[in-house]
Amino acid sequence: MLLKDKVAIITGAASGIGREIAFEYARAGARVVIADLMLDAANATAAEIAAEGGTAMGVAMNVTDEAQVDAGVAATVTAYGGVDILISNAGIQIISPIVDLPLADWKRMLAIHLDGAFLTTRACMREMVKAGRGGSIIYMGSVHSHEASPLKAPYVAAKHGLLGLAKVVAKEGAKDNIRSNVICPGFVRTPLVDKQIPEQARTLNISEADVISKVMLKDTVDGEFTTTQDVAQTALFLASFPTNALTGQSIIVSHGWCMQ
Ligand code: NAD
Repeated sequence: MLLKDKVAIITGAASGIGREIAFEYARAGARVVIADLMLDAANATAAEIAAEGGTAMGVAMNVTDEAQVDAGVAATVTAYGGVDILISNAGIQIISPIVDLPLADWKRMLAIHLDGAFLTTRACMREMVKAGRGGSIIYMGSVHSHEASPLKAPYVAAKHGLLGLAKVVAKEGAKDNIRSNVICPGFVRTPLVDKQIPEQARTLNISEADVISKVMLKDTVDGEFTTTQDVAQTALFLASFPTNALTGQSIIVSHGWCMQ
């Protein structure tokens, strides 16, 4: 029960990586807030966690909407008495060469990944400072926080940006015992990745099998996908780490695709 009685808000937790972290955190004793676009989906995930014996609630939150973010964090404080952990995880992917990329898609990507990270951080940090019991803020970065790939300009730019935000949060948060770190996964089979396999195959004019072996997993040490459980265990490690020694860092979880 490494997170016994901690309160964790996880954005984008109705699917994929965020969902797995939500289950792992609940098993570790945390009270978990599933913050996602649709209340039905968030509530359904929370109900599955409750069926396993955990404590969870859903909130409707578009992370780009200042009022919804502030309301979701306020609802968490009302229900569970504070916020100890934020996992800023909600995200999308857009596959396009720069020369064909509409400005609206560039802005949408930056809004979800960077505005969303800022708004959730600000709302949670305010509560953490007020409560005076410290906190842990974890951003879902990517190997693309460190490396670039073609066809992903706004995603790579946004994921690099999260490293900068996390470092500032580590410096500003230190006096209030608030830590901040970034998890950088390699490719994980979630709906976000399943959608881009055929898109990349079309754009690169190669088969879907080649997208997996020659694009996505080409530089791993063993040709393996990272799993949602690999990422959830890293999130558990970071949130339960007992001191401020680990702050302002990024941890790459990618089967050796990226080594730094
Ligand atoms: P996913 O598509 O399975 O889940 C993303 C979730 O985010 C969905 O539930 C969706 O509803 C939610 N979401 C999207 N826009 C939102 C918004 N504006 N407000 C609130 N919620 C929103 O994707 P995933 O693969 O689990 O990705 C989660 C995070 O992990 C993303 O930040 C992604 O960039 C990152 N990541 C994924 C991979 C991978 O290979 N899957 C690798 C590295 C990093």
